Amino acid sequence: MAFPQTRLRRLRATHALRGLVRETRLDAADLVYPMFVAHGIDRREPIAAMPGIDHLSIAHAVDEAGEAQALGVPAVLLFGLPAGKDEEGSGAWDDEGIVQLATRAIKEAHPDLIVITDLCLCEYTSHGHCGVVVQTGSEFEVDNDPTLDLLARTSVSLARAGADVVAPSDMMDGRVAAIRAALDREGLAQTPILSYASKMASAFYGPFREAADSAPAFGDRRSYQMDPANGSEALREARLDVDEGADIVMVKPALPYLDLIRTIKDDTQMPLAAYNVSGEYAMVKAAAANGRLDERAAVLEILTGIRRAGADIVITYHAKDAARWLQ
Ligand SMILES: [Zn+2]
Repeated sequence: MAFPQTRLRRLRATHALRGLVRETRLDAADLVYPMFVAHGIDRREPIAAMPGIDHLSIAHAVDEAGEAQALGVPAVLLFGLPAGKDEEGSGAWDDEGIVQLATRAIKEAHPDLIVITDLCLCEYTSHGHCGVVVQTGSEFEVDNDPTLDLLARTSVSLARAGADVVAPSDMMDGRVAAIRAALDREGLAQTPILSYASKMASAFYGPFREAADSAPAFGDRRSYQMDPANGSEALREARLDVDEGADIVMVKPALPYLDLIRTIKDDTQMPLAAYNVSGEYAMVKAAAANGRLDERAAVLEILTGIRRAGADIVITYHAKDAARWLQ
């Protein structure tokens, strides 16, 4: 039946009617708040490219995590800025490393808050790449298989420190299976893996690299992160991670890849996380600061759109603000 019998505006007439037929609801319970914990600072240090987000000491991270939880955000995602870096990234699996210490402190203060730890080497390597670098002359390669052992070792250290979920973000082939095997071998079979399954080599990570001090010293990450043009390959990446034992799969970034969120959700039927990344956050903040966008309305529309596309979980720097607005 068409117009004039059919009039879609009938159900848009009032706030109550619109609410009754709303298909997607945004809830603080679906959000994850990322945080940057830094070694050797005793106060908050603002990250210029990401207004409202700071480098945190462990004590401030405990406060900030508690604040997020009080607003109804059930989980935080931790990144670390370590005391030092080396060729291998050994700070990643140091049981007294910055993320391990922060995880213990946060879990002690807020036992019911879910602590997800990012699992990668790039914040800990002197060269800033996500794996073992082999250099021949001016050429370099990130060597896949030797990296797997280091990631597996890191996953055990993080889980032992109390991480509720480990989240490998490196994009090495076979890492999920290696991490699953290591966790199981060490009696950590109950620790879930949230894999950054379909992670693009994206321009939208720019502000994060300042925040995590993880820009590669040479080259770029296009030999391991995905080509933004490839949708079928993104699905293959997600399927492989599911086969290897991932419990949750991620699409990163979110906004240029809403189609992949939908495809991967429909295909895998897995719990799906989308990472609304630093560049997406910084764009909204910059436009809002210039009076070009209503920040609150824009953020809630963006997060709803990511949920509507098929994401069950949205990782976002807007989490605390959004949770406050949703109250
Ligand atoms: Zn990395």
